[in-house]
Amino acid sequence: MTETLGSWGSAALVAGWIAAIAAVGFVVLFWQRLVRLRREFRVFEIVAEHANDGVILQKMDGTILWCNEAYCRILGRPQDFWIGRKPQKWVIPRDICPSDAEIEAFRYDLNGPEFKRFVMWRNMRGDGSEFWGQFSLSAVDVGEAEPLVVLTCRDVSEQVVREAALTQAKAELEHVVNYDALTGLANRRRLMAFLSEALQQAAHDGRRVGLIHVDLDKFKEVNDTHGHAAGDAVLVSAARTLETVTGDQDLAARFGGDEFVLVLPGQTDNTHLIDMAERLLKAVADPVAWDGINLAYGASLGLALSEPGTLDPEDLMQQADFALYEVKTQGRGAFAVFDRSLRRKQAAHKDMLEGLAEVIRTRGLDYHFQPIVDLATLQVTGVEALARWNHPKRGTISPVDFIASAEEIGLLEEVDLGAMQAAVSAQARLSAAGYPQVCAGFNASFQTLSNPDLLERLTWTAARHAVPHDRIVIEVLETVLLGDSIDEIEVAQQIARLVEAGFGARLDDFGNGYAGLTHLAQMRVTGIKIDRGLIRTILTDATSDKIVRAILDLTRDLGLDVVAEGVESYALAHRLGAQGCQSVQGYAIARPMPVADLVPWLDSYDPQAAAAAVKAAADVPGATAQAWRAG
Ligand code: C2E
Ligand code: CA
Ligand code: CA
Repeated sequence: MTETLGSWGSAALVAGWIAAIAAVGFVVLFWQRLVRLRREFRVFEIVAEHANDGVILQKMDGTILWCNEAYCRILGRPQDFWIGRKPQKWVIPRDICPSDAEIEAFRYDLNGPEFKRFVMWRNMRGDGSEFWGQFSLSAVDVGEAEPLVVLTCRDVSEQVVREAALTQAKAELEHVVNYDALTGLANRRRLMAFLSEALQQAAHDGRRVGLIHVDLDKFKEVNDTHGHAAGDAVLVSAARTLETVTGDQDLAARFGGDEFVLVLPGQTDNTHLIDMAERLLKAVADPVAWDGINLAYGASLGLALSEPGTLDPEDLMQQADFALYEVKTQGRGAFAVFDRSLRRKQAAHKDMLEGLAEVIRTRGLDYHFQPIVDLATLQVTGVEALARWNHPKRGTISPVDFIASAEEIGLLEEVDLGAMQAAVSAQARLSAAGYPQVCAGFNASFQTLSNPDLLERLTWTAARHAVPHDRIVIEVLETVLLGDSIDEIEVAQQIARLVEAGFGARLDDFGNGYAGLTHLAQMRVTGIKIDRGLIRTILTDATSDKIVRAILDLTRDLGLDVVAEGVESYALAHRLGAQGCQSVQGYAIARPMPVADLVPWLDSYDPQAAAAAVKAAADVPGATAQAWRAG
């Protein structure tokens, strides 16, 4: 029994020891786990406390259980303010804040977008100031009935401001790149993009695209007479007019200078296009009131409708342009539609341009010369080089018929430089033949004059032919087309340099048009040529006669030399001589002739006989009497 008891006692002891050891082991394990948990918790605490992002732990109804330092800093309120509160009322700006009842009823939707990605919300700080916050949310299952929500947030106001500025800058740049600064209409770049898209769409839906190329009439007059501000007023007014006639689907663009283009998608035929053109012509007939005066202008319109399936915007532009050209040659102020007959004409025109380019590039143009004589002595004082195109099929073509085309293909300068070369070498030839006093002139367009190399080239050419500078005259043509980027100041400076270098410079076609006096004031020329349109009528029209007399007075005062051109009769030469005009050029003396004929003509020319003939020629009596009566 004792033994039994004894064995029992020892068994109990062993069991007690085992239990004690187990208990100690358990306590040690528990302690270790506790230490580890505490360490981990400390790590989490450190992370949460030192994170720059705000972190809060919320219940599903939004009530805050815990928040970190950063959250308090960002939202501008202390920790004890937040714990146990729903934050909405304190963080959502008042204008977008939900009502108390809504906040009361609030519960997170775990399927909401803010649980999947970052979201941006406008937020309010404790002091009422606002900022842009970036938020993300995640749900945490803590083994209770409901998950908890961890919200992190950061203040991204600076980025938002920067991004907004960037977006705005981008939009502004986009505008500058695509719109015309003066009129606000689309510019050429936007136009071409829009037109391309419209053609693609049209090819898709079986419609057509209409195009109206608008060219303002009398714009240059306005600019030259009233200045650029007046010109701008006309451009802006024209732009507004275009906008009033275009619909939502259409585009009005400024093509450059005084040219505009309307694109009208979704057409089936010409009807709408023609109706639009008629309305436009009516609208631009009203003058623009500007600075107390009425600025009158008008427009010429070229219309074209895309062929089904055409995709090339350039084609359609060219067709409208061609129709416009047709209107301009027929007197402006109207519209023309590109049709079958214009298509044929366009093809012929293209052929002509190709032929012209070829002849200019191969230096195949010819230059004829027309004498200029002094009215006091009838001596020949000069010759003018005039371009001629000897066409294999069409015979000799006048520059009147190809100068504009040469400009169109960008080769006008080549024509002028050819004339310069011809004039200098003709002068050398005349000197060698015993006529060193005869000056040689050539016509220079504004394009040629705006090339800074002109002076150097001319000086070099004159030197090569040993021609003194004062034997060469540049005739300054006003062939400046509107909207071209020719800088008149640049041209004026070039002329001043040419004159300083000893060359002569005459303003050509003076009295034809509006800019003559303006240009006379701007350009330091040595003389002028009075336009033949004005000269032709002085015997029959008292006004022309008075104008010419005034021009002669003016040039005498300014010390400029004067040539009257287009003098077809001795009677006219007589009248001009009586009025004090220095020299004349015209069929009465001689027609332009090939350079080879010049010396023989001079050899046979008799100044005394010519002087006698002029002296003998009285003004046409009837015309004179009529002119005096009219005066
Ligand atoms: P422009 O400079 O006024 O040249 C005078 C024009 O009047 C010439 O016409 C000449 O043949 C013509 N003419 C001369 N006398 C008379 C006359 O008594 N009656 C009539 N009705 N006409 C007369 P052309 O040669 O046909 O030249 C026409 C225009 O072409 C020139 O007018 C000039 O503006 C331009 N041109 C000619 N050659 C050149 C050139 O090399 N370069 C440039 N840019 N233009 C040129
Ligand atoms: Ca001329
Ligand atoms: Ca002329």
